[in-house]
Amino acid sequence: MKYISTRSSSESLAFESVFIKGLADDGGLFLPEKDYKFDEKDLSKLQSMSYYELATEIVYKFTGDFIEKDNLYELVKKSYSSFRSEEVVKLRKVGNFNILELFHGPTLAFKDIAMQLIGNFYEYYLSKNKNFINIIVATSGDTGAAAINAIKGKKNLNIFVLHPHNRISSVQRRIMSTVKEKNVFNIAIEGNFDDCQNLVKAMFVDQNFSKKINMSGVNSINWARIVAQTVYYFFCFFSLKSEKLNFSVPTGNFGDIYAGYLAKKMGLPIDKLIVATNQNDILHRAISKGDYTSKKVSETFSPSMDIQLASNFERLIFEIQGRNSDKTKNIMAKIKENNYKLDENSLNKINKDFLSEKLSEDETINEIKEVFKNHNIVLDPHTAIGYGVAKKLKQDNSCIILSTAHPSKFPEAIKNALGKNEELPPELRNVLKEKEKFEILENSLDQVKNYILKKIDEIKN
Ligand SMILES: *Cc1c(COP(=O)(O)O)cnc(C)c1O
Repeated sequence: MKYISTRSSSESLAFESVFIKGLADDGGLFLPEKDYKFDEKDLSKLQSMSYYELATEIVYKFTGDFIEKDNLYELVKKSYSSFRSEEVVKLRKVGNFNILELFHGPTLAFKDIAMQLIGNFYEYYLSKNKNFINIIVATSGDTGAAAINAIKGKKNLNIFVLHPHNRISSVQRRIMSTVKEKNVFNIAIEGNFDDCQNLVKAMFVDQNFSKKINMSGVNSINWARIVAQTVYYFFCFFSLKSEKLNFSVPTGNFGDIYAGYLAKKMGLPIDKLIVATNQNDILHRAISKGDYTSKKVSETFSPSMDIQLASNFERLIFEIQGRNSDKTKNIMAKIKENNYKLDENSLNKINKDFLSEKLSEDETINEIKEVFKNHNIVLDPHTAIGYGVAKKLKQDNSCIILSTAHPSKFPEAIKNALGKNEELPPELRNVLKEKEKFEILENSLDQVKNYILKKIDEIKN
């Protein structure tokens, strides 16, 4: 399988480059040249597979000659053997809905599922190529933790994580800042998540800098992450043996839900994908009435969704523009000027596959309270949004809620809703005691670049 960029029709790259680069040289996102679709026979074969086998079959369709299937299976096994659920994920009935728990990995959020695999992809790549790679990633809290856990201690790799200072939960920060391995660097930026993301993008675009340090990215636009995330849509579908399902997905950067869209394109009979947002609702405004203008980000109980520009949305724009890279480029320029409205035709196309709704802060807290009272289950604030949105849109029991994080990762929100603390799983309790290490830097490209160069130099010597 070959890949193209959403912003030019000339490039055609193999999986390995797409994985290592993350972003195309022209600033676009990678997509397969042609869609891959399983036929009925394939699908029925996949139906009875274990999570590991299923992940191997699906991911293998996208990796081309990067890796042999047997080796891929070994990497999948290695990636998921430390998860607290044998089948990686868990389905749980809560009231009318099924909840798909995706947070049984080492850092308590769904990001682990893709990131553990990616960490092992880097290691596999570096075992074949003499190279030293520096990963730089912006995080609204969970990506960074998952990436650090996946990369820490790996040979010939450093990881630098930028998080918005004081705007992630204390537990989110501690899971990152208490890691002791020498190849891990945490940077707290005095700004919001979008500032962090802009800094990383600026470093990527600066070819002098990014080539010099052999920079690579693991943020949610990385195609390998999207592919790894399609697996649990399939797994859930096969476990429930349904004819048709909707998924309600707590959404920020549009990565997780795009994986659902990819699964649908691969032949899974998903009906609607529901974008659930908090009050940072650009995607809800876009999908319900075509308004994709960004407003100021506000802090919420669900920090991993406090995002105003959803990077992966570009992939959907490219698709609904009939995969026309010129049109996509024009639209991305308009988005940069904060001046993009979707026309009716585009909106109709999107609404075939997507619905959306948002929850306010009060509604989120109420949802956590109500689910605890009626079902004795504590939902994290992101999952509560997925749940509340499904209710608001009057979904029936064919709607699956993706549960994206463990409630103990957001103690402030849970305390607010339930007046009690939610305990961390035993293997993570040490993060509350251990000494933290992170560097606070201004929202300044020069400062961040200098810091990174200095640290790379230090670790070399
Ligand atoms: C990252 C994250 C989201 C949003 O996922 P996207 O792929 O960015 O849309 C939702 N919930 C939690 C807990 C997350 O960590």
